[in-house]
Parts: sequence; structure tokens; C-alpha cells
Amino acid sequence: MSKNSSAGKQVNSNLPAKKPSPRARSENGSSSKSSQKTLIRPPIVCFLGHVDHGKTSLLDRIRRTKEQLKEAGGITQSIGACFVHGITFLDTPGHEAFTAMRARGGKSADLAVLVVAADDGVMPQTVEAIDHIKAANVPLLVAVNKMDLQGVSSEKVKQQLSEHGVLVEEWGGDVVLVECSAKTGQGVDELLEMIRLVAEMQELKADPTAPPSGMVIESSMDTRRGALTSVVVREGTLKTGHYLVVGSVYGRIRSMYNWQGEKIKEVKPGQPAEVVGLKEVVEAGSPFVAVKSDAEARKIALDSIRPRPPQVAKPEKNDEENECLKTLKFIIKADTNGSLDALHHSLERLATPKVQIVFVHEGIGIISEADALLAQVADAVIWGFRVDVDPVARQIIKSGKLIVKTHGIIYKLIEEAQRLISGKEKEGELVRIGLAEVLKIFVLSDGTLVAGSRVREGEIKIKGKVRILRGEDQTAEGQIVSLRHEKEEVKKVRTGQECGIVISPAFEFKQGDLIECLEEYKEKG
Ligand code: GDP
Repeated sequence: MSKNSSAGKQVNSNLPAKKPSPRARSENGSSSKSSQKTLIRPPIVCFLGHVDHGKTSLLDRIRRTKEQLKEAGGITQSIGACFVHGITFLDTPGHEAFTAMRARGGKSADLAVLVVAADDGVMPQTVEAIDHIKAANVPLLVAVNKMDLQGVSSEKVKQQLSEHGVLVEEWGGDVVLVECSAKTGQGVDELLEMIRLVAEMQELKADPTAPPSGMVIESSMDTRRGALTSVVVREGTLKTGHYLVVGSVYGRIRSMYNWQGEKIKEVKPGQPAEVVGLKEVVEAGSPFVAVKSDAEARKIALDSIRPRPPQVAKPEKNDEENECLKTLKFIIKADTNGSLDALHHSLERLATPKVQIVFVHEGIGIISEADALLAQVADAVIWGFRVDVDPVARQIIKSGKLIVKTHGIIYKLIEEAQRLISGKEKEGELVRIGLAEVLKIFVLSDGTLVAGSRVREGEIKIKGKVRILRGEDQTAEGQIVSLRHEKEEVKKVRTGQECGIVISPAFEFKQGDLIECLEEYKEKG
């Protein structure tokens, strides 16, 4: 388990400063009984954890599917979420879906329930889920399931969770843990109560009169009714007759249904519904807005297709003492525990006073869709040692232009990492892109001084920052304000070409001066 212990520490050190735990707060008077009233909007909750640990069974138990559906007249179609006991539960368990939604710009859930089977304990996908929850900065609650099994206890789970930076209340942390069984129903009421409490601490507010917005959770095409879009509303009240806009797709809401298949006219904040009226199927996880007129909807939809200026990434400032400290986030995958350990330690040692390394996730096996999605949302680099990349992950990596390096020889990966780190160090620094030698000085009629020069190396660019070197000394700095080649204004000149350079502030050049053209360092993709 040592492989994850350092990643675990990372998780732990990033957890918020110790607050009174939700349970303690509840016992101290901030009454859980009033939670229903004080909940400003219902929380949106999802279940994550290892396969077969009981995520689906717990959800089924909570919504008592069969009984409720019988009462509602046997509707079988799921809408991707249900609203029970004042809580909205997303249907699709698993961290892939959780992170995919975030990757598409939606905020997937307000709260994650990490399901761990008492007999199995923490398994690889439990660890993955912890890392995904951590990267999403979503509060979590632990449900130790299958407590009905003979001879199980939650002690081992608590211990294992602590190794991954999840400290439950008994272990001095503030993560609530509930023992339960989806099979017998034991502890399920307490789980619901704790979900309400943790949600209450987040003070989830929503304005029912605001323009409606939220997230798409499922979308499909029905031959009879057209596109069906399941949504969760986060702000405002969604009403029949509104125009729903998802990216460039929009349409008038003809009808809406709740999760039990009943027709409804409006959906309040925090609640899910199935909407009929959109013209096409859209991607789950996409954000939506709703407006009152066709013209408004059309405008928003059209605006969404216009190209936007690229987003400029600012250097991160992670350390109050050292404003210059930059961060590189890594996801590492390897074929065995031993090689994962080796990779972790080799990469860890590459950190420099200027660049710190954070391990967002590490695991054994193929580079999966979940890894790629996590890299996308966390802005991380993936390192794979003796592992393959799964085809879906490959697609995401390609379209997201993510950095993924795989190799069967560890030092090749380390070399690559070193290159990346030294690039990161230089990011924002001025580096030389060209050098020109002054051959002759001209004075224009308005007194402007032009350095007639020849480019000795690289290129000289208009608006480039320059340093003038005379002998061993740097004599001036400035910026190129005019650059001519054969009397024409040009953007750049290259090695061997002659040019006329004017800089600001003006400088009295001498023959033999060297003009060094500088540019901010950029990592080449
Ligand atoms: P998921 O993959 O996490 O969604 O797990 P499932 O809900 O599909 O459950 C996996 C298996 O564990 C199924 O065979 C369930 O019947 C069983 N299971 C789920 N919860 C419990 C429980 O509380 N106790 C016992 N004994 N078995 C459970």
C-alpha cells in the first residue's frame, strides 16, 4: 500500500482545516431535524466506489424502486436521476461519469457518497474514486456497505481510508462514515440523514426566480417523442413553455416528467426532470439555460458557436511564501505496484525550488477513459510505464491535446519529465530568439535612428523586446517599433537577411552593436 501513501498525504494536506464534524455540529444544537426546512435547495448526490460494492443496490434501496414504481403505475423508464427524501440522486454511479460531466463544463454533484464494501475494503477503484472526488473538490461521505455479512467490521476500512488521506471522524478527521447494508436496509436512514447534514453545511442556495439553468444528465432519441433530455435544475424554476438551450441546440419545452413518469409543469432548483422539446440529442454533462422566447434562445445558441478567444493560462501561485512556485500535476499508471512505486519516487525527486510536483492520481493498469478525463479537468500530465492507452482515452487525449507519455523504460520517462520541468521553470522568462549585428546607422529626416543590421542567428520580430550588447556589456533595452526588409515593413526577418531596425526608446547605435531579440519562453507542444 506504500505506493499510494504519498498520494494519500497529498489528499490529506489539501483537505480543509479541521472544522467541527457534521455529526458533532448536529449534536451540538444545529439540529438535523430542521435540515429539511433549512435546506435551501436539495443537494445533488452521486455514489462512487469500486465495482460490486453496492452502489446500485444502495440507490435502489433508497428509492425502493419496485414499490415506488408500482405505486406510480409501473413506469420503467429511468430519467438518469431520482428525487427522494428531499435529495436528488444521480443514477449513473462511477467516477468516469462523474468526471465526464465535469469535463463538459457541468458541475456534476454537490456531494459524493463513497461506497466501500465492508468485506472487500478499499480497492483500486475506491482509490480512483477518492482521487476524482478530491480533484472535483466535492465533499464526501463514506458508506461502508454489506454490514450484514458475517464477521465484517468497518475498522479495516477506516484504517485503509486513512492511508489514502480520508480521515473519518473517529480518526480525528471530519469525514462522516455510516455503516449500512443495502440488503437489510440497516443504516440507510442514517445515511440519508448524514447526506442532509453534510449538504446543510454547504448551504446550497438557489434563487427559484432566477433565470433557470443547470445540467443535462442524460439525453436520448425517442422515435415517438423526439429528443428526451434529462436535466437537473440548479438555479431558477424550469417551466413548460420555456426554451431550453444546450450549447447550439435549443427547443421549446413541450412537456416535462418527474422521475416517476408523472407529467409536471415546473421543476424547482435541485430537482431532476425529463424534458421533451429539444431538437437534438445533446451530451450528458452539458450545462443548459432556459429563456422565455424563441429569439433569445436562438441568439444564445448562435453565440455559442462563435469562436471564443483562447483562454490564457496564468501561472499558478500555490505557495504564499513563494509566489513563483509553479506546479506540475501528474497522473501515473504502471503495470505493477513495484513499478508504480519506482516511477512515483523517480518523478518526485525531479521537483525543483521553482516547480513542485503534485500526484493527482496513481494506479495500476491501462490508461483509461477516467484517467484521460481526470487529466483534462485537473490539467495534469499522464505518465504510463509499461501500460497501454485505451482507445476511448486515446480519443479524449487527442481532442483535448493532453500530454501523455508512455514508455517501457523508466529513464526515458524521467528524461521526458525533466524536459517538461525545465520548460516549466523557464515559462514566462525571456529567452533569446534571434541576434542581429548593426552594420550601419541611418538617420531619417525626422531624426529617427535606424540600425541597418544583418541577422546572425534565429529571427528578429516586430514588437520584440530587445537588449543591445556592446562588447561584453548590455547597454540598453527596448522594443522594436519598426522593422524593414528591402524598404518594406515586415513582421520578421531571419538568419542571413538584412533589415532596418528602429527601437523605442530611441538609442544611439554604433556599428558592431548586437541586437538580441527576446520572447517569453513557451513550451512547445
Ligand atoms: P455496484 O457495482 O457497486 O453498483 O454493486 P451492486 O449494487 O450491483 O451490488 C453488487 C453485488 O453485491 C450484488 O450481488 C448485490 O446483491 C450485492 N450487495 C449489494 N449490497 C449488499 C449488501 O448490503 N449486503 C450484501 N450481502 N450484498 C450486497
